[in-house]
Amino acid sequence: MTVITRQECRQWDQDDPLAELRSGFSLPDGVIYLDGNSLGAMPSQALSQVYQTVERDWGLGLIKSWNNAGWFDLPYSLGDRIAPLIGAAAGEVVVTDSTSINLYKVLAAALKLRPDRKVILLESSNFPTNNYIAQGLIAQLKTDYSIRYAEAGEIVDAINDDLAAVCLTQVHYKTGRLLDMHSITEKTHDAGAISIWDLCHSAGAMEVNLNTSGVDFAIGCTYKYLNGGPGSPAYLFMATRLHNQVQQPLTGWWGHADPFAFERDYRPATGISQMLSGTQPIVSLALVEKGLEIFNQVNTRALREKSMRMGQLLIDLVGQRCSAYGFDLISPEQAEQRGSQVSFVHKHSYAIMQALITEGVIGDFRAPDTVRFGIAPLYIRYTDIWDAIDILDRVMSSGSWQRFDAPEPGPEKPQPPGSGRQSIKVT
Ligand SMILES: *Cc1c(COP(=O)(O)O)cnc(C)c1O
Repeated sequence: MTVITRQECRQWDQDDPLAELRSGFSLPDGVIYLDGNSLGAMPSQALSQVYQTVERDWGLGLIKSWNNAGWFDLPYSLGDRIAPLIGAAAGEVVVTDSTSINLYKVLAAALKLRPDRKVILLESSNFPTNNYIAQGLIAQLKTDYSIRYAEAGEIVDAINDDLAAVCLTQVHYKTGRLLDMHSITEKTHDAGAISIWDLCHSAGAMEVNLNTSGVDFAIGCTYKYLNGGPGSPAYLFMATRLHNQVQQPLTGWWGHADPFAFERDYRPATGISQMLSGTQPIVSLALVEKGLEIFNQVNTRALREKSMRMGQLLIDLVGQRCSAYGFDLISPEQAEQRGSQVSFVHKHSYAIMQALITEGVIGDFRAPDTVRFGIAPLYIRYTDIWDAIDILDRVMSSGSWQRFDAPEPGPEKPQPPGSGRQSIKVT
């Protein structure tokens, strides 16, 4: 293969039908941001939304804004905006709480739907919160529930008719491996189990087809590819056929049939509303809208095609420029089997990522030995990928990474501000 030049990448940027979308974001100069799958970039409109929500709606409108500024309606209106991005219908999605909390709600609801079954299937190497929440839930239950763990290649064989629920993440947070939602959901239903999908690393970077796959519940966060802002509320999908049949455990007043009647006893609201629990962080919720508005003009298939091409470019460039340095690709080689990130294992991953961040290339280190490059196709350019790998080549050939210490084993010791270790956030 001939060596890919920066000039070619410039040409691809010029020909990119999605290139304009980058102007909807405010990105710092001199930074190549390959971490949009951890914390999405800031939409340019976010700041004016903060002013509107805080200064006008809260400051002047005060309590009237629950109605006049649409605060009460936000979980639904934002849910309806997310629905087309994940193959759901209006009225099937709410934006509320965190992914962890929503997982608790849907897992518990799923177990209630299959009262005679006591096993949950999870992927053992999933992002830990998914396992921890399931472990915490079953510890609360009177009867003996258990968790069956499987790795990607074992999942299909592990789906049996003793399962109450199969709960999987579509794109693996570390390797970027994409699971086949359609066939796994089919197998799940053939076994009589409930299907739950976590879309944290897929929605916003590719098309997701919940309803054509027949999925029962889904959850995901809005602060990664959906650019909703740090810690912004998550979303929860429940298929229409399950509405008014399920019971979730966090039965707060927002999920009550008549929340302003202030009755003593809980009665579930109809439809998706019963998946709500309590009052939401409105400032953060209002910001989610600015991230989602950018998707108005976007065809998710085009987004996926761009992301696959960029992932391939990154892999090819590392192969051409950095093959001597000992990086092992742990993401699937085939673009169709990969989400929107590329990860490598390297003995010195931690120090290498610190060196890259110092040079303005922000990616992730994932313990113990993974470097991860997220490709948010809304705002990353082909030349960004080229420049990032050019810098990686320089960091490796000059040995500049050796100036950075490996993390200490054992309990985390405090790091000076800006050293990166704890200033770069999770997942
Ligand atoms: C990002 C992510 C989460 C986030 O959960 P929070 O409740 O927002 O902390 C959960 N699961 C997976 C698989 C993720 O990638």
